[in-house]
Amino acid sequence: MDFWLFREKLSKQMLQYKLTHLKYPGDGNMQAATQQSQKERKEKAKERNNQSILDMTQGDPEVDANNPIDLRILKRAIGRRGKSRLCGNLFHFERHVESVQTGKKHPLSCRVCGEQCYSVCGLCNKPLHLFPNRGKNMGKSCFLEYHNDSFFGLAVEDCKVMQKRKSDWTPPSATKKKVQKRHINSLMGSFA
Ligand SMILES: [Zn+2]
Ligand SMILES: [Zn+2]
Repeated sequence: MDFWLFREKLSKQMLQYKLTHLKYPGDGNMQAATQQSQKERKEKAKERNNQSILDMTQGDPEVDANNPIDLRILKRAIGRRGKSRLCGNLFHFERHVESVQTGKKHPLSCRVCGEQCYSVCGLCNKPLHLFPNRGKNMGKSCFLEYHNDSFFGLAVEDCKVMQKRKSDWTPPSATKKKVQKRHINSLMGSFA
């Protein structure tokens, strides 16, 4: 679950809490509340929702008030994922990149494509192509694919989890990648 979804979910939960408590005010507010039109109620709920996001931002001890980048600027920079420069938090991925060992003397079998490769992710201890600059596997991005959630299930190494024979493995087509991405994304949504 990404940051925005998390925040939205949290504020919805807070709103739900507030609304539930509104139902049992124990005073004359009950009547007033029931007389509100649906539109009014929706608008009030929206206001409260926005307010709770604001409260959380302001109350967050990690938010540096002196930092010129605020929620509005950040949201604008993120824009639509895939169209903007920002691709989500790559903090974990960065750690794998930093652990790469290249120039291995003996060829190893890449865990994504099965072809010979000379680089290893030190963190995973797995041989993976990291954009080799020569040879027949030149430019292969197996390293990136191996660490990408959406690609899980498509690497040679995933044959076991996919209950397939290694000999039946073929490089995934663009369509296969798209289908897998959709499947993984929907699974991610269900434990968000
Ligand atoms: Zn490879
Ligand atoms: Zn790794």
